[in-house]
Parts: sequence; structure tokens; C-alpha cells
Amino acid sequence: MLAVASETPPDHRQRACLECGAPFLAHKTQARHAEFCGDTCRRSHKNRRAMRGAALYDLFMTLRYQRGVAQKLHVWRQLCRLAADFRLEDHQQRAGRRSWRAAAEVLAERPYLNAIVVADKTWRRFN
Ligand SMILES: [Zn+2]
Repeated sequence: MLAVASETPPDHRQRACLECGAPFLAHKTQARHAEFCGDTCRRSHKNRRAMRGAALYDLFMTLRYQRGVAQKLHVWRQLCRLAADFRLEDHQQRAGRRSWRAAAEVLAERPYLNAIVVADKTWRRFN
């Protein structure tokens, strides 16, 4: 990415870094998906998401596949609490910048999630 100059070249678009908030220029062909001013911010963002995601993953899998344990431990409430804590942290430390990727982009990378699966290779039914 380029640093922001006084005038934006016609083939670039100005964006704000999702991590540090600094403005940067992205080529117009990549501007739609350009989110970070550089690799340091991209790594920082990715590492925070990975650390947060690890806890969410374990709790969500418990919620989905160990429902008795999840109910006993109030896992849904804890998941919501974690999300609220992350959001508060974002407001306090990141000037409220969003710390998650757009759901439409995540889902666009996984079009199979919209498929309706009625059986796996062994023809067992899913529920
Ligand atoms: Zn940045």
C-alpha cells in the first residue's frame, strides 16, 4: 500500500486501515478488499482475531455438540459476554474500529455453506 499523498492518483482509492485507522492508498482494482496499511497491521489484526477466535471456537463447539455441558455452564451467555468484552476492548483501544471481517466476505469464501446437505458419503442423514 502507498502512503496517502496530498492528491489521490486516479488509479487509487483512499482507505482507512482497519487496525490502526491511518489512511492509506490502495490501487482501485484492490481497494474494495484492501483493509490494512501494511503487513504489521495485517498481522496484528490477524493475531487478535486468532486469539479471540480460539476461545469462541471451543465454546461454540461445546454449545453445538455438548449441549448438556453448555447448558450447565451457561455457554451461550459466556459467548455473548466474550463478544461484549471484545467490543468494549475495541472501543477503548481501537477507537471503535470493527475487529471482525464482513460476514458477506467470510461467507463468499465458503459458498458450500449455502448448500443443502441431505446426506454425507455414507448416506447418513444430517440434522
Ligand atoms: Zn494500519
